[in-house]
Amino acid sequence: MHATESFFDQVTRYFNDAARFTTYPEGLLAQIRCCNSIYRFDFPLRRADGTIEVIHGWRVEHSHHKLPTKGGIRYAPDVHEEEVMALAALMTYKCSIVDVPYGGAKGGIKIDPKQYTAEELERITRRYTHELVKKNFIGPGIDVPAPDYGTGEREMAWIADTYSALHPGQLDAIGCVTGKPLAQGGVNGRREATGRGLFYAIREACSHAEDMQALGLTTGLEGKRVVVQGLGNVGYHAARFCREAGAIIVAIAEREGAITNPKGLHEDEVFQHRKGGASILTFPGATPLPSTAAALEMECDILIPAALENQFTAGNAPRVKAKIILEGANGPTTPDADPIFRQKGVMVIPDIYANAGGVTVSYFEWLKNLSHVRFGRISKRHEEANERQMLKAIELATGTSFSEAQRAALAKGPDELDLVNSGLEETMINAYNGLRDTRKQHPEVPDLRTAAFLTAIHKVARSYMELGIFP
Ligand code: NAD
Repeated sequence: MHATESFFDQVTRYFNDAARFTTYPEGLLAQIRCCNSIYRFDFPLRRADGTIEVIHGWRVEHSHHKLPTKGGIRYAPDVHEEEVMALAALMTYKCSIVDVPYGGAKGGIKIDPKQYTAEELERITRRYTHELVKKNFIGPGIDVPAPDYGTGEREMAWIADTYSALHPGQLDAIGCVTGKPLAQGGVNGRREATGRGLFYAIREACSHAEDMQALGLTTGLEGKRVVVQGLGNVGYHAARFCREAGAIIVAIAEREGAITNPKGLHEDEVFQHRKGGASILTFPGATPLPSTAAALEMECDILIPAALENQFTAGNAPRVKAKIILEGANGPTTPDADPIFRQKGVMVIPDIYANAGGVTVSYFEWLKNLSHVRFGRISKRHEEANERQMLKAIELATGTSFSEAQRAALAKGPDELDLVNSGLEETMINAYNGLRDTRKQHPEVPDLRTAAFLTAIHKVARSYMELGIFP
């Protein structure tokens, strides 16, 4: 990494590397690259012990080429403006790659949530929402937050409740935020969507025989050795779906250290062990690794960084032995590490595509909120009845008869989770093949990340050009 290069500068470098393959005027590229609105604010929190603390918050709307803007809210002690800007920019590119009609945004609060009580976190979250309302930085047609590092359904419920209370009678108020609990307008499947999306991405990548041969791998996930860094929302679910598809989780890294077991770890057992406050290092039957960083350098087929940015630098990239890096986190690979991976023949499946499952299902949640009806509610029984008719016709034509169990399995109208997962699967598979085709059509595009940025630039540029702003 260049000494003074921020995360936003890194994203800009990736953008510029891809923009070289276009002929757009520099003014248009500059408009796509820049952050359209940045809101920074401070507010006081009275802590449980009576002291007052100043809380620092941000919301960045990177691109207004489509509205609303969309992106998660991060609670972490080292959140800063350039980080939020970078994450907002990644959201713009991510949304366009998976054809989700939003501009990118991101929010952040500079706190370590572990140091605050639930009641303090609630007050922080509600006040943060107030601040966003004050400046028109939130709303179902304006800017729609979602969970990110350090936040989850609980925080989203507080945001939805605060926003709704401030907008009495606004019919679509609940669509002001996604990633909500089911009972508060959430959608089935959102919780695990980013991990499931990562799974669809890697399953699709591993299905192309020629790509796998080039890596010295066979097709399919069965038996592939996986290392996961970060057992939070993204890492846990990515590990779970990969394991369920036959992959072996050979190592898991968390803040306090990392463990390995060549026979395989079960992510939920490790999660339950840590939940009680125990260190990952005392998980029974596993061998501790010398450090969290050591897990990133382990011999494996698939490495899933799912914690934070800047994990792969020019320093450790030469020691990474994984054949595929599946970026669950945003920005885990610095632009100085990427050429090293290219040169070593490591396949990097970039964040702006790989972790787009979360925003894709957030889009479905928002659609559900705007339509005020659960997916499948109107058509489920109707489809089931049609399928039963079809089975009856098959029975009549063939003289066979299905058992009631077979009938129930074959004639099942889709429920909300079926539809959400199928929409996510379709999105992830199409987008992967879109990136792969771009590389095939442009052999000079060196890797999937550049192909992903190039795809995003074309899509955002087209929106601006259709507005007639640029020639
Ligand atoms: P999370 O807070 O649920 O989990 C993060 C986990 O990483 C925690 O368990 C934490 O202890 C662990 N961790 C922190 N530092 C670590 C380190 N140095 N080594 C190993 N583990 C470490 O957060 P999340 O929602 O899973 O997000 C993780 C990453 O995925 C972030 O980069 C986020 O921007 C990105 N992301 C999240 C979503 C989403 O839907 N939540 C969507 C897209 C991208």
